[in-house]
Amino acid sequence: MKNLWNDAQSPAATDAIALRVYSSRLLGQDKTLVLHGGGNTSVKIAEPNAFGEMEEILYVKGSGWDLEKIEAAGFSPVRLDHLKRLAQLPSLPDPAMVNELVTHMTRAAAPVPSVEAILHAILPFKVVDHTHADAVITVSNSVDGAARIKEIYGDAVVVIPYVMPGFDLARLCVVEFAKQAGPQTIGMVLLNHGIFSFGNTARESYERMIDLVGRAEDYLKRKQAWDITWTAPVAATDAGLDLARLRKDISALAGFPIIVARTVDSQALAFANRPDLATIAQQGPATPDHVIRTKRLPMLGRDVAAYATAYRAYFEAHEPQAKERKTMLDAAPRVVLDPRLGLCAIGRSAKDAAVVAEIYSHTIDIIARATALGGYRALPAKDIFDVEYWDLEQAKLKKGGKPAAFAGEVALVTGAASGIGKACVDSLLARGAAVVGLDLNPAITTLYQRPDFLGIQCDVGAEDQIKAALQRTADAFGGLDMLVLNAGIFPAGCRIEDLALDAWRKVMNINLDANLVLLREAHPFLKLAPRGGRVVIIGSKNVPAPGPGAAAYSASKAALNQLARVAALEWGNDNIRINSLHPNAVFDTAIWTEEVLASRARHYGLTVDAYKRNNVLKVEVTSRDVAELAAEMCGNLFAKTTAAQVPVDGGNDRVI
Ligand SMILES: [Zn+2]
Repeated sequence: MKNLWNDAQSPAATDAIALRVYSSRLLGQDKTLVLHGGGNTSVKIAEPNAFGEMEEILYVKGSGWDLEKIEAAGFSPVRLDHLKRLAQLPSLPDPAMVNELVTHMTRAAAPVPSVEAILHAILPFKVVDHTHADAVITVSNSVDGAARIKEIYGDAVVVIPYVMPGFDLARLCVVEFAKQAGPQTIGMVLLNHGIFSFGNTARESYERMIDLVGRAEDYLKRKQAWDITWTAPVAATDAGLDLARLRKDISALAGFPIIVARTVDSQALAFANRPDLATIAQQGPATPDHVIRTKRLPMLGRDVAAYATAYRAYFEAHEPQAKERKTMLDAAPRVVLDPRLGLCAIGRSAKDAAVVAEIYSHTIDIIARATALGGYRALPAKDIFDVEYWDLEQAKLKKGGKPAAFAGEVALVTGAASGIGKACVDSLLARGAAVVGLDLNPAITTLYQRPDFLGIQCDVGAEDQIKAALQRTADAFGGLDMLVLNAGIFPAGCRIEDLALDAWRKVMNINLDANLVLLREAHPFLKLAPRGGRVVIIGSKNVPAPGPGAAAYSASKAALNQLARVAALEWGNDNIRINSLHPNAVFDTAIWTEEVLASRARHYGLTVDAYKRNNVLKVEVTSRDVAELAAEMCGNLFAKTTAAQVPVDGGNDRVI
């Protein structure tokens, strides 16, 4: 365990909140301590209230904040005396407990305090840290875990048997802490859940966390259960359609389209090929709160129907014991382990899938090390069910709101690094799609650093590069729902009598042939799109109204238009619809520099502004206008339309 405390960077000792933020972030930075909203921290501070009286306030992490990026505003101030009184109650339902937390804050706009607030309150230390450290839960989730924890820590920690988070856990800790704590106590282990450290300063508590987790790591090293060698077969690079079929089956079961993100590093692939997988990967999650992200068990192989049957049986076995009636969540897996596909993480969005992938990658290490220690033992299914169907977790899920229009769907845009293509990427991302951008320009690979975007440098004129890009699309997101054919070239003006065959062929190659290959290669993927495939062709005003000097361009776009119409006829049965839009005079793209605009305007005897608005409606047409129409053509408005051609040109008298 690396101690990241840096005196030069830490805030002044007098600023308790700034210090609390600083050391919370240190914990959050280390993914082996906490992942995605896991863990929580607090500090107790005396403050004057409105009457000038001093009051003890517990600043505890608010829900919805991640320790890695937490700010002062992410801590909820709750009156400490009230929390300590609550801890004396014999029982308190969790929703009532949350109500007590929220109604005893001193800042109305603060987030809902962590459900572990009472637990933080009863620990008699100024600063309290709680993580789900990999090393500690590895030991705790192994055969004889409780005894091993005792062996590692002796009287340095209080040990709490597993109880679900919430009021009952806080209540048990009150009793056990009083019984077990002594002058040596610097932490508390919650078996099968995580670890607490505490101290009188942020630094003391942080360093105790590092010390305690380090002891578990050292123990695993001593027992030869730390370094795992992963020997994996070579990853298949042609698994695209297998992934798309899997995605279609899981989406049908879930009732909404999902993203499938494939991981084929040696750890994932070797784990998915372990002969003991059916035992070690079917025990349960490493810590109960992962169940919300990963479900209790991964699916092994691709039998989605069998997974659904088993999930229903699990629900029906445990629901009758719940305090109140529960509604079954979707039965779709969130983690798939397959010998050929490796680890597939599933989410309603690419961001969700990325979170699942990261959690499960840590889970693999935990399972493998616990197995090396003698055997991985997760909590019984009943305990996991209680967390999965906990009122408070259910409330969190409901708060998510209505999903975006293209949530769980995948779009591919060609010529995506700039102009109309980039605007299409933005419009599709804004509607919740995961987007793959292709472009010849290497800048595409760094256009956006976010989990729902993949930029691939690709020459659309090269068949093998298109095929490889589609495989990468399926690896990243599981398939393809929407294809926006935008890449094209517009050569300098040239009359037919001067047009060389090479120049003609170059235009045809990019504007027509490349799109034929893209359509052909994308077809099997589009056919497997959970809500049907959609293709949008960025055509041109030149299709209905060609221009002199633009023979190659006009002919290529007209041929593309005809190709799209035939595709609409052929693919209707596959539930794929193809629509075209015909932009004109879109000037906010790279080819239209200030100089070119000024010279064209002069040519027509117009000002630049009048030249830009030289159409029936006298409006300027922007890349964004075109992109928004392209995105809408993929949406519900056009659900019953195929082979439409819509101008987006401000009205052109030659077209009308
Ligand atoms: Zn916890």
